[in-house]
Amino acid sequence: MTDHQLTIKNVKCEMIELFIGKMDYHTLDEMLNSFTLLFMRQFEIDRATFFLYENNRFVPLNKEECIVHSTDNYTKEEKFGLGTSLISHLIGRGFGFADDYLIFRGNDQSPLGALIFKSTEQWHAFAATPYLSELKMIYGKFIAQIVDKDHLMQKEKNYRKLFEITEFFNSTMDSNVILEGMMKTINELFPMYESELLLSHDQNTNMQTYRLFDYLHERGSTIDAFLSGELTVEHASDLQCTILNAPIRGRQGIYGLLQMNAPLTTDFSYTQKNLIRMIGNAAGSALENASLYAQSHRLVNDLQLVNDASKILNSNLPLNEMLSYLKEQLLKAFKPNEIAFLFVDGEEYKISPESTALFIGNRANASIQPIIIRLKEEEEAIFDPNRTDDNGHLKEFRSLAALPITDQKVVKGWVILLHKEEYYFSFDNFKLMRSLISHSSLAISNIILRDQLQELVNKDTLTKLFTRSYLNKAVEKSMEKNEEAVFLLVDIDDFKHVNDTYGHATGDLVLQQISEFLLEETEAIGIVSRWGGEEIALFLPSVPLNDSIAFAKAIIEQIPQVTNPEVTISIGLSSWEPQKGIAFKELFQQADKALYEAKNKGKNQLVIHGAASTVH
Ligand code: GH3
Ligand code: MG
Ligand code: MG
Repeated sequence: MTDHQLTIKNVKCEMIELFIGKMDYHTLDEMLNSFTLLFMRQFEIDRATFFLYENNRFVPLNKEECIVHSTDNYTKEEKFGLGTSLISHLIGRGFGFADDYLIFRGNDQSPLGALIFKSTEQWHAFAATPYLSELKMIYGKFIAQIVDKDHLMQKEKNYRKLFEITEFFNSTMDSNVILEGMMKTINELFPMYESELLLSHDQNTNMQTYRLFDYLHERGSTIDAFLSGELTVEHASDLQCTILNAPIRGRQGIYGLLQMNAPLTTDFSYTQKNLIRMIGNAAGSALENASLYAQSHRLVNDLQLVNDASKILNSNLPLNEMLSYLKEQLLKAFKPNEIAFLFVDGEEYKISPESTALFIGNRANASIQPIIIRLKEEEEAIFDPNRTDDNGHLKEFRSLAALPITDQKVVKGWVILLHKEEYYFSFDNFKLMRSLISHSSLAISNIILRDQLQELVNKDTLTKLFTRSYLNKAVEKSMEKNEEAVFLLVDIDDFKHVNDTYGHATGDLVLQQISEFLLEETEAIGIVSRWGGEEIALFLPSVPLNDSIAFAKAIIEQIPQVTNPEVTISIGLSSWEPQKGIAFKELFQQADKALYEAKNKGKNQLVIHGAASTVH
């Protein structure tokens, strides 16, 4: 056996020993280092570096040193035995010691790795023999084996991880736990890179560390990944880094992105990308399940809300009570900062007093005007999660939802919900608001109509005073509450004469003048009603007797000034206290008597029932 044959035999033994001895508990790098050392010892070489071929690049085991691009050159170079071109390529990159190299190939001739080294006489002697190709074949087989095994182990590790994380994802219905679990796994798998979570706006999460996906300012590759649902990698030389964007993708949509920042020279391998993609998909599906689960719960609650609301809304409440109820429900369900109820009033809108503080008092107009300008252009509900005004400045209340109250397609009013945070109301929220308000619309319109009709029934058309029956009810109610009260019966003096002299129409006018005056005077203190013909009754609950007497005297005095043609009035006054225990009928009869007395005594005066004499 020649020396060279012996070398081949030696090498074979060493490779087998290394393969059997260390494979199970050494990393690929350690195996390749051991291999490099054996090679160096075999040919008494001092310096050598192993380059592993990964992702179309030769990467030195000592990774900081250098990466050599493109393989084609080396295929040609190798034909010459000594690779002068590769060597010269490496000289400037810290591998100046090398003057020779070996490239190892797998069965399919694809490169697996390369050794560059400073050659020795022993090497030259061996390399000049035909045994060189046998050596390369042995080395190639060895490296192919350990690389294959490493890939398999890597794959197995990845699948194990993926299995674990998927199992974990499916064990929870909490989207925060899923997202946190995903980030933790990614950080464990890729501790050397910076990873960040980007979420779309409609993800409701309490996660601490995430960034909102911003369509306007993300990089193209990031937007691509988000829109296409495909993983993208960008070598961003401006940022000196490589950015990987993996979509968090379920069957129905893309919920966010997992972004990794690696050094510019990084090339993510197919296996790495596949693993990240699969983790993103697993998280996306789990998120989708969690949100479907939450959604089904929400739907049940939503139905309950609409159902409860419908019941209350159809229960014939007065408008203010119904709006208060609606406000309470909206505050509970959607937690807006402010709510307004607006009702169409001719060309304008009237703000209902059931609206929240922002819309009541001094600030009301300034708050509502910009919204009203917008409402006037709209017939449809408005969902604006990110309000800006015409100049692009941000509004104090960034989230707006406005729902029309319609009756047979005619807008009767609006319900407006505001929140200071942008994207505060989700689109699901908005859909529910819309359904709630459209369910309420009919009830609200009916109540408004009912109130308008009731007013028609309660009020006299000529004088706009309440009817006698309305006043009767009010007096009875007040008596039930045991309030003290005063009843005034007013009769125009010589009204026949007015009619006879100026005509009936002028008589009507005088009646209107007196009514208008009395309405104004009693606005806050009582009820005025047309008692019959030209007789008017005033009911003043909770006004002390003395004040009522003064009030009656004052109106007798002022009536000639507010009428044209000038007339006077007479008044009969009766008062009621809980202790007196008289019925309403008596109260009115007493006033009637007093009035009769006033007429008899010369008109244009007040007579108090039970008082000794006329009061002038
Ligand atoms: P007195 O001072 O005693 O009250 O004299 P009078 O002329 O006012 O007499 P009385 O109260 O008995 O007459 C009521 C008159 O008021 C009769 C009727 O022609 C007139 N009158 C009643 N209702 C209306 C109305 O709606 N419009 C007009 N123009 N006149 C009315
Ligand atoms: Mg009369
Ligand atoms: Mg009269």
